[in-house]
Amino acid sequence: MAAISNLDVLSLPGRQRLERAMSHAVSAFGAAGDVPHPDIADPRHAEVQPIAATSNNLKHLELLDQLEWSHVSLCAGLIRDVPKHWLSSIAEAKHAVVIAIIKHRMPMATDRTVMLDRLWKLFACIDALLLHKDPRSRGGKRGQGAHTLNATIAERLRCFWAGAWTQLWLDLECTVGRSSPRPLARSQEAEDKRTVKTMQHLLSHNAVSKAAARVSEPMRFARGADVPSRLQEMFPPAPAVIAPQAPHDDIPEELRQELVAHIHNELQSLPTMCGAGANGSFYEHLSLHKQIHDGTACLAEVLADLVTGDAPESAVKALRSGRAHPPLKPGSDVDIRPLVASSAQWRVTMRGWRKMFQEETLTAVGVTQFGVARPGGAVSMRHELEVRIASDPTLALAAIDISNMYGSMDIPHIEQEVQNRVPRMWPLLSRWFRVPRCHVHRDQEGALHQIHAQVGVDQGCPASSGLACIGIAPVHEALGEHGFVSGYQDDTYLLMKQAAIKQTLEEVAPALAPTGCKLNLRKSVVWSPGACDVGVSGIARTPTMPHVLKQPLMRPTDQDISTPVAVSPACVDAIINKRETFLNRIQDLKAAGLSTQHAFCLARTVLSGDSVYLQQCHLLGAAHAAKFDQLSVEGLLAILEIDADENDSLGSSSVRWFIPWSSGGSGFNAVQHGAHANFVSSWFKDLAGIAERMELASPDALLAQALCIKNALQEAVAHLNTIGASLPSSVEQALVESSGSKLASKWRSEVVTRIVRNLESGATNDQVVCMHESGGRGAGSWMNFPKKPCQHMSNQEFRASMRLRMHLNVHRKEHAERLHCKHRASAERGGRICDDNLDVKGHHALLCKLGGHVVRRHNRGRDCLAELIASRVQSTVHVEQHTPEMVADQRHPDIDFVDHQQRHVYIDIEVCTPHARALPGVGALHKSGALIEIAEGVKRRKYAHLTLIPVVCSHLGRFGKGVQTLMRLICRDVDEDQRSISIDECYHSLGCAIQKANVALLEAAGPLL
Ligand SMILES: [Zn+2]
Repeated sequence: MAAISNLDVLSLPGRQRLERAMSHAVSAFGAAGDVPHPDIADPRHAEVQPIAATSNNLKHLELLDQLEWSHVSLCAGLIRDVPKHWLSSIAEAKHAVVIAIIKHRMPMATDRTVMLDRLWKLFACIDALLLHKDPRSRGGKRGQGAHTLNATIAERLRCFWAGAWTQLWLDLECTVGRSSPRPLARSQEAEDKRTVKTMQHLLSHNAVSKAAARVSEPMRFARGADVPSRLQEMFPPAPAVIAPQAPHDDIPEELRQELVAHIHNELQSLPTMCGAGANGSFYEHLSLHKQIHDGTACLAEVLADLVTGDAPESAVKALRSGRAHPPLKPGSDVDIRPLVASSAQWRVTMRGWRKMFQEETLTAVGVTQFGVARPGGAVSMRHELEVRIASDPTLALAAIDISNMYGSMDIPHIEQEVQNRVPRMWPLLSRWFRVPRCHVHRDQEGALHQIHAQVGVDQGCPASSGLACIGIAPVHEALGEHGFVSGYQDDTYLLMKQAAIKQTLEEVAPALAPTGCKLNLRKSVVWSPGACDVGVSGIARTPTMPHVLKQPLMRPTDQDISTPVAVSPACVDAIINKRETFLNRIQDLKAAGLSTQHAFCLARTVLSGDSVYLQQCHLLGAAHAAKFDQLSVEGLLAILEIDADENDSLGSSSVRWFIPWSSGGSGFNAVQHGAHANFVSSWFKDLAGIAERMELASPDALLAQALCIKNALQEAVAHLNTIGASLPSSVEQALVESSGSKLASKWRSEVVTRIVRNLESGATNDQVVCMHESGGRGAGSWMNFPKKPCQHMSNQEFRASMRLRMHLNVHRKEHAERLHCKHRASAERGGRICDDNLDVKGHHALLCKLGGHVVRRHNRGRDCLAELIASRVQSTVHVEQHTPEMVADQRHPDIDFVDHQQRHVYIDIEVCTPHARALPGVGALHKSGALIEIAEGVKRRKYAHLTLIPVVCSHLGRFGKGVQTLMRLICRDVDEDQRSISIDECYHSLGCAIQKANVALLEAAGPLL
């Protein structure tokens, strides 16, 4: 540094940059791979890629012998998102460990056992060593936080390559020792603000359902000094003697390779924002291996060793052990669920393992198990029970509760069943399944407790539900001899004739005995329409039929076996309450800073999903459905701050809240439009399978027996026909003609078509135009969750854009006040103010040429599009680059670039404002995109000599054909599975740019609502 004599003459930023570069350069000498290589001074945080491939050797591994395996699971918080400019450096370090394991796992390798033990230890704690949060670092406003972080990571990486394991480990232990107790209860306001922050973080990672769960059902965790002991109780000790394990065969190489391939697949599509494992590592840390060529393939090789027994047992134990934050069961303040999150490494391995045996597991658990590998299994199970009860109303129903099924199932029993039922799985189970786990629980004070687990499987491990259900399969078989049994994981239901009640119920406990599980007498009940002898089973009788998976069954009424008992009001109320709670909570969070855009998107997602199960299970009455939809409207009006009166003024076109984006709606799901379709389609899907299991010739024969089901379906089909679906009037015929999936969405779209047609004839011309010009491919994308910074809209931008879309007032006008357009010409053009009358719908403002706002909107669209093209095509994209000839003849295409076939493509953009008076003739009003087509034609003629793609869209969002052509062209080189996502992203960004420009334009003209 001193060698540079004229350092002082540099400007301060230049000098600092040089100083940083110098300090970096000094440390950069040394052996290959010895130093990290990000260019921290680069404002874009690009990494300095090593020119030559580095061969990295790990040094001083013998020091790791001092580190105890039991300490691997004791880490506190880790940095989830690795800073961008450190990705390669850290991935390289992690990859070096993986490569070293691969090298040493060969049978001939010297010191195989000793070296593998050391390397796996390193593998299990490397994320913690490199990425644990330093308690000393505090984020500073001027980037001190980032600076400290950079210095820390650089230092750790140098230690890593120098083999200073002891120092790395001591640093980590200091953090663990210092972990502070969780802060005590804060004010509700502060708590809400924190929730909003978390949700924004989740949404920025695309974890929508997790963000939604924060609002609708926030997880509550058990607290208190007795939690560790209560948790330990959920993991019962092993029986005194476990018979020695049967010897197993060698694992065939092709079986191993199949597993590796499945794990590799999972590594390509890791879930986002999942909790950390006991060793602190997140899935995000595993995805670092993607930075290295072949990195995930090597990682998959190594992870497979955990299953095949090639990894040391201590490694399996450490990685399989989890972090336990026991959540409380919903609606209970005492019952805890023993959820444990094993390490990310273990979970991804088991996800691959589960995928590999998915088909075989389905066969092994039997047709009576609906809870494994069967999408829609919950509804199917209910349907089957309902049909059987309708066919024979004298049957008794028992709901059997097994206490802690996962945790208490006997290991040798599961092994036995796996050997019998899934022999191919056995070699890939036998070598890890008996390794005990040692889970970690961190209490409120920050103290760590160990929870020992020897039997059963862990809730939270991806392999568990399949294994537990394989274990329970013989119980189903034994009970199935006396009646009909069905189960959804640990919920078991028995249907039996009255004469068989005593025998069947007495059979339950003995059937469970070999599995190690116990019958929970407190929660098991039996219901019977007639006499009921429970024998010595101890199972209580209940006067009302027990709920099946939280919902009452549809069954014949006592008076008339052809009329089904209607949906229980309690269930509807429960969901209505949930909606109300959700919508109120959203308002609280909005007050705490949640954006209108996020709130609206979340509401749309949650409100369309919460009642689907109810709709599939029950034929909802019109009153119930209307109540649901009314709540949705009230909720979304509150989010957008629109008066109910104002919405009423829309008249028939207020139904647009409930029609899809592509038809010019707002995409909310209406229960009224979907309830019958969901009900009928889910039944039609299941009937054939049920008939087969009941050994009936056809679904017709089944419906003839179950009259009340048939009548319910008849009613639903008739209703579907009145609202636009064209189904045969008899259920049997409808069933034959409507085979195929996606029935519900097909019928829903028929319903929508009819609504749109009604609107066209009943609404005002302006409303009709507004609906048409808001629809079509990509037109609603801007209402989706924002993913990129340019897609975020301020509350005002989002509200005003929604108002424009729904044809509500956009300008605020006091009573009898006259609004004047405030658009002002530029100074060089005289600075005249427009002063024309401003209508509250914004028509004048959108068309007013004064002040250049329309041009600005055009330019924002153009720049956004240019950016989208530039990020997707190889060639340079020119904006407003004109040859002299073009200038001479007044033709200035906006953008030009060279496409993949070396053709020069020109683009000219226009945002048009269609309204009733802009469209020639009444016929054009009922034709979507009429004005867009005219504008496209004009452009094509004007630029007839160029290969021009006209990009025309309406200010409400409809895109012309030219835009669709262009999107396909520029996304041509994107991977096939990513292409439609990439195209959607284009529509999304472009739509947001136009909407934001609309709002800027309106705001300049007059006060916004
Ligand atoms: Zn004006």
